[in-house]
Amino acid sequence: MKTGRTYFVADLHLTDERPAATGRFFRFLQEEAAGSDGLYILGDLFEAWVGDDDDEQVAHDTARRLKALADAGTPVYFMHGNRDFMLARHYAARSGMTLLADPARIDLYGMPTLLMHGDTLCTDDVAYQSFRRRVRNPLTLALLRRLPFALRRRLARQARAGSESAKAAKPAAIMDVNGDEVVRVLRGQQVSRLIHGHTHRPMQHVHALDGHDCERWVLPDWYARWGYVVCDAAGCALRVEDL
Ligand code: MN
Repeated sequence: MKTGRTYFVADLHLTDERPAATGRFFRFLQEEAAGSDGLYILGDLFEAWVGDDDDEQVAHDTARRLKALADAGTPVYFMHGNRDFMLARHYAARSGMTLLADPARIDLYGMPTLLMHGDTLCTDDVAYQSFRRRVRNPLTLALLRRLPFALRRRLARQARAGSESAKAAKPAAIMDVNGDEVVRVLRGQQVSRLIHGHTHRPMQHVHALDGHDCERWVLPDWYARWGYVVCDAAGCALRVEDL
């Protein structure tokens, strides 16, 4: 029996080092996502991902839980985030997840809705955008995939440490989405609803565009809190709770 609802999550940053978030996610799968019309994971499901040969316990457990959900009839979709952009077909198949491009435009109960991870909207962060273009280049990705697992993990740790110290030095506004870019994307994709994560600033925004209002839903991260956006034929709602 379907519930007539669709769930959206992002930025869970799952890792063996934070079992509380993992436990909450598995409970969410059981209590909310099960039986729903679909679960969309919009990037950064994992804290880090250097290849489908990832050996963390959480990677195995998550694959098993997601596969069970998909096998029970709830489609599970995954879009890459900036932490887990190397997640590939092999792990997606193990988890029963369908890979989505970023952006993805879906029909959500009759309303065209755009899904993104959200990092491409942060155009004020010029240094990050140039880093992103370099590492997401298919040639770079193909080279990275050929490196031994231990080396890939070391490179990812270095990149993360570099990004943490760069973030500490950046004004907060630079790491948020750029309003002009949001409007440009909404207009270009001809949608009046956008759901994304990445900024860890859960909120419902309204953007006035060409004489009508557009909704932008920002998903919460799962560090000290957890939550999702849930939509049905009547509309969407954001839920955020303490972990
Ligand atoms: Mn992100």
